[in-house]
Formats: sequence, C-alpha cells, structure tokens
Amino acid sequence: MSENYDIIVIGGGPGGYPTAIRAAQLGMKTLCIDSWINTDGTQSFGGTCLNAGCIPSKALLESSELYHRAQHEFAVHGIGVGEVKLDLKKMQERRTAVSKANSGGVKMLFQGNKVTGLFGFGKLLGGGKVGYKSHDGKEETFTAKHIVIATGSEPVNLKIAPVDKDRIIDSWGALELAEVPETLGIIGAGVIGVELGSVWSRLGAKTTILEALPGFLPMVDQAIAKEGLKQLTKQGLDIKFGAKVLNAKAGKKDVTVEYEQDGKKETIKFDKLIVAVGRRPFTKDLGCDVAGVQLDERGFVKTDAHYKTSAEGIYAVGDVIGGAMLAHKAIEEGVVLAEQLHGEKSEVNYRTVPSVVYTNPEIAWAGMSEEQAKAAGHEVKTGSSPFAANGRARAMESIVGMIKIISDAKTDRVLGVHMIGPYVSELVTEAVTAMEYGATTEDIQLTMHAHPTLSETFHEAALAVDGHAIHSANKRKPAAA
Ligand code: FAD
Ligand code: NAD
Repeated sequence: MSENYDIIVIGGGPGGYPTAIRAAQLGMKTLCIDSWINTDGTQSFGGTCLNAGCIPSKALLESSELYHRAQHEFAVHGIGVGEVKLDLKKMQERRTAVSKANSGGVKMLFQGNKVTGLFGFGKLLGGGKVGYKSHDGKEETFTAKHIVIATGSEPVNLKIAPVDKDRIIDSWGALELAEVPETLGIIGAGVIGVELGSVWSRLGAKTTILEALPGFLPMVDQAIAKEGLKQLTKQGLDIKFGAKVLNAKAGKKDVTVEYEQDGKKETIKFDKLIVAVGRRPFTKDLGCDVAGVQLDERGFVKTDAHYKTSAEGIYAVGDVIGGAMLAHKAIEEGVVLAEQLHGEKSEVNYRTVPSVVYTNPEIAWAGMSEEQAKAAGHEVKTGSSPFAANGRARAMESIVGMIKIISDAKTDRVLGVHMIGPYVSELVTEAVTAMEYGATTEDIQLTMHAHPTLSETFHEAALAVDGHAIHSANKRKPAAA
C-alpha cells in the first residue's frame, strides 16, 4: 500500500535535507529519499557536499596545509620538528571519518525532526506519486501533496578526456587517491582545479593545470584574482591559460595530453589527470518527462521564483536548478521553499551569495567586483587594505592579501566586497551581513572592530574608500578615477 506524505524530497544533499528538516519542523509529514552510495559501499545522506565535495575536500585541504606548514612555516616561529613524514593512508582515513561524522549527523537530524529518511532511488510517476526502489531491489510507491526535486549535479565529462577512474579521474576520484602522484595534470583552473591542485601539490605532486580561458577566476575582482594567481604560482602550481586540450589518452603508466596554446601544439605526460571542467544537473531516470517537469536547454530543471516546476505540485532546489552551484545556496533555497509551502513569505537574496575558494591564501567574495559594477552602469568608488597592515595577521605570520570594497559613488551603498588572505572564508560573512542590511561604506566605517583581529582589515578597507584609513596607505579609487 502506498503511504501518503505532505512532502517528499528526492535527494538528501544540501538542497534536499534542509528542505526535509524545515518542512518537518513546520509540521509536515516528510519523506526524504537519497540514492548516494560511497565507494566503500555504505549509504549516507549529505549528497555531493558531505560525501565527495565540500567537506572531504576541506578535510584534505586542512591536512595538506598542516603538512606544508610543518615543513615550511614552523621554523620561523622557533619550532623545530625534524623530518616531517606523510602518512597518506591515515590522512585519507581522517577525511573519510570527517565525511561520515557529518553525514551521520544528517541521519540524526532526520530522527530528531521526525523526517523519514530512506536510502534508494526516487522516481517521479506523475499524479503526486513517487516510485521508490531501495538498492537491494525493494519497491514501493508513495504519494504526496508536494514533491521536491533536489537531485543535484554530477561532473561534466569531456569526450576528449574520458574518465577511466584510474589514470583519468574526476573530483571524487581526486579526493580518494591512495598515493601522491609524482606528476598531476588538471583540466580546468576553476574552484575544484585550484583547491584539489593545492592539496596534491602540497603533498608533493608536480602539478600543472590546463585552463581554456585566458585569465584566472574571471568572476572575482581582478585585483584579487591577480594576487591569487601570483601566490598559487609561487607555491608551485603551473597554471597554463588559453590552453585548449585536444585529447587525453590513458596508458598503463601515464596519461598523455595534447593541448594547444598560442597556436602551438604541445604534448605533456602525467601520472594522473583530473578533469574539473564544471558540473551539470543530474536528472537521469528521474521521470521528468512522465511527470511533465520541463528542463532547459542545458538540462537544468526549470522553475519560477517560488521553485515551482512546470508540473503541478512539483518543486526543485539546489544544483539541479542552476545558478551558483554552492551548498549554502542550495540550503537557503530548501529552507525558503519549505517555508513558502507553509504559507510564509520567505525568499533568498541572490545578490549576497558568498563564494569562497579554499586555497592558501583563501579567496572570498560577495556581490559585484569593480569590473562587474562598472559594467552594470554604477559609478563606483573603491578602497582596499592589505593584511600586511594588520597586527593580528603579522602575529600569525599571514600577511599576504587584502580586502577590497566596491561602493556606489552616489549612494555610498556597498556593492561588493572581494578579498584574499587569512580566514577570509570567515570574514566574508561580515560583508554579506552588511550588504543584507543595505549598509553604506560609512556604516562599516562607524562599526567598531575588535583589536587585534583580521576583521580590522575590512574596517580599514571601508575607511580607505573615503581616503582616511589609519593603518594603511589609502589605496582608494574615488569616483572620478
Ligand atoms: P547534491 O549534493 O549533489 O545532492 C543530491 C543528492 O541527490 C545526492 O545524494 C544524489 O545521490 C541524490 N539523488 C540524485 N538523484 C536521485 C534520485 N532519483 N533519487 C534519490 N536520490 C537521488 N560548495 C560549497 O558551497 N562550498 C564548498 O566548499 C564546495 N566544495 C566542493 C568541492 C567539490 C570537490 C565538489 C564536487 C563540490 C563542492 N561544492 C561546494 C558544491 C556543492 O557540493 C554543491 O553545490 C551541493 O552539494 C549541491 O547540493 P544539492 O543538494 O543540490 O546536490
Ligand atoms: P568551475 O566552473 O569552477 O571551473 C571549471 C573551469 O574549467 C573553468 O575555469 C573553465 O573555463 C574550465 N574549462 C572548461 N572546459 C575546459 C576545457 N575543455 N579545457 C580547459 N579548461 C576548461 O567548475 P569546477 O571547478 O569543476 O567546480 C564545479 C562546481 O563545484 C562549481 O560550480 C563550484 O561552484 C562548485 N565548487 C565550489 C567550491 C567552493 O565553493 N569552494 C569548491 C569546489 C567546487
């Protein structure tokens, strides 16, 4: 017999599990079905993010950073550690444990919030019905008033460089390497390319990234992106821009990659090659056609501003609907959708979605870059302040980087904040809060910041917009500039 729910969420990643939890908190009888299977055969909630994305990549970034610091940075603090040894097996076991702890947390949250969680595949059958098939073949049909598609995304494959899960791997494979490759190639200098490139480069792999575009991180303020590229290059990442990969062939011992740069054909060999050229929506076997859920020309589920698809009673959130493919964007959409279905006037502010690249130094931003603000027709004024002028950064021996504020010259409203430096992944939220409340540069100038903290650089950048930074040269561009 088919059980009836108020809401069925298909997919238990950052889009799906918060939708389910919030819906249950609001009194809805909720089912969440998730199909994730780990490489060790276990099943877990949390989707790409907790199992093969945000969390395991940050675990390895942390471990590899400590390995690098112990080798290269402890001495300046007067700490001698002798020979620093890498135990990759242990590092990888910790990475798995971190993921499992997080995904186990989701299971507990489901129990605590009375969400029914099922491992298996969900399929739209039309007419408010969802077909469920467990991984051991058990089948059931459920019905619900509301159905939410939160099936996420998968890596884009390149026909010219087919993933064989051995020599040529995707981001998931790149998280699970059991040995440090001597030479590592990466196609794509996007977020995954530079984060996972940093991990394996710190652990000893000679790393080369082939990027089709002519420049680095085009969505980031170019003053910040330029500094980021300088630092990554200094750390040994060889990033080749304007490099068009023609083909990659996996052999027994290595991968041969042919690419074209500046009109010249080049050949290069790597022990491993990571393909990191973006992600695409995942709707395979979901039954969108049967249920009347329309997809756009790139395969994303089409929704209106209230996450409603073309089919009555079916909604969608997260990576599968496009926009920024970020976990926190997916979470916000899920929570807002559950609240809207409960009749509340909730909405996501897409103007302040923060982004972070977890390299060292970290790169983070919210809102427009100077280039984007000008292109959007704003007359802008900007101010920036370097971490070299920050006492806490000096005490931490982390003085590389800066914070740049982009404001509207007429209204003084903050349009964007772009930053590179220590823990800017944490600092960017101050910028988001300011922008969420419609802050002007003056509002930030008048906000007291504790001393000594890294956040003082945000304050100084705001002061620099009007030419009165105290602790740094006033690197500002007034409106006329
Ligand atoms: P997903 O997390 O992909 O979850 C979808 C879930 O649905 C999966 O569990 C899938 O198995 C399941 N599913 C699919 N089809 C069905 C079906 N028919 N039935 C049942 N279940 C189904 N974002 C950040 O914000 N910060 C980061 O630091 C970050 N790091 C990343 C690092 C890497 C290496 C990668 C690959 C991604 C990273 N991301 C990061 C992006 C982030 O992981 C995604 O934006 C986020 O996971 C999207 O959430 P989602 O719920 O939409 O999709
Ligand atoms: P991306 O879009 O960030 O970068 C892909 C890069 O590959 C681009 O620079 C693109 O120009 C390049 N490229 C595409 N085709 C190419 C080709 N044929 N040859 C050479 N270069 C090519 O995608 P990604 O790095 O794969 O990440 C996927 C998604 O996961 C992103 O949307 C990102 O938001 C998300 N993610 C986020 C984080 C984070 O928030 N810290 C970390 C990892 C991933």
